[in-house]
Amino acid sequence: MFESLTDRMSKALRNIRGVGKLTEENTAEALKEVRSALLSADVHFKVAREFVERVREKSTGVEVTKSITPGQQIVKIINDELVELLGNDTSEISTARPLRVLMVGLHGSGKTTSTAKLARLFRKRGMKPGLVACDVYRPAAIDQLETLAKEGDFPIYTDRDQKKVIKIAKAGEKELISQGCDVIIFDTAGRLQVDNELIQEVSDLKQKIQPEEVFLVADSALGQEAVNVSKTFHEATNLTGIILTKLDGDARGGAALSMKSLTGVPIKFVGTGEKMDAIEVFHPDRMASRILG
Ligand code: GDP
Repeated sequence: MFESLTDRMSKALRNIRGVGKLTEENTAEALKEVRSALLSADVHFKVAREFVERVREKSTGVEVTKSITPGQQIVKIINDELVELLGNDTSEISTARPLRVLMVGLHGSGKTTSTAKLARLFRKRGMKPGLVACDVYRPAAIDQLETLAKEGDFPIYTDRDQKKVIKIAKAGEKELISQGCDVIIFDTAGRLQVDNELIQEVSDLKQKIQPEEVFLVADSALGQEAVNVSKTFHEATNLTGIILTKLDGDARGGAALSMKSLTGVPIKFVGTGEKMDAIEVFHPDRMASRILG
């Protein structure tokens, strides 16, 4: 088990009870602990460095009060800063109808699963979702989406003979709208790693469909790689949100902080299991506690 950050802070700050103020000198050891906590949660090293700098600036000069320990005080500063960086109130999505949502991400990130999960969540909000299978490379991906659509009783558009993904997307949108759907979710192809062909394809799709929302589905265990993945997809498609999956696993969630800090794209939802209802609106405070351990 990780020693809690508050305990580590208390130890690192044990000598500064009653000294009056937090200073650069008396918080140095504590801030080293913060940096190592962030790095062990897989936060990108640059993000960790900048974060510690911000906390140093915010804590220097703060009065040590009698009611709470310096450890608790600095943990509060760190926590508030993390919550702010992770983004407050990020679950807002476009109110346009029809609403078009483009799902992008690497293969295995949970894109197809999240497409179906989102459809359920939208239906709970009173919307009528329809799904479009835009993976022209893996027939199994179309089968998977079809199975999920059937289970959830969602209209789905597929065309196994069409290899031009934009044609599929356009025809699917038209067909599903004519069936009364007011939210169309496009599940796109992924690759095991970011490559030019994949990026070109999602970039073209974004241009041609002009979706109101573009969600990057990212595995929370991506670690340091999260930065490259989110930056590349953001440059290609101008992401409007991130869905962070597999938070039911061991990942400490540092990827969330790295992606949000370096792209500015808000995390909107999290995946918390394989079941179709295992999707939640993102809570920055919960993520902050998870990262800090
Ligand atoms: P895609 O290739 O990006 O479309 O990924 P899939 O949707 O096929 O998901 C890949 C695997 O991850 C599947 O076995 C999913 O059940 C699993 N998965 C997706 N989201 C989650 C999640 O939030 N938690 C867990 N534990 N597994 C997930």
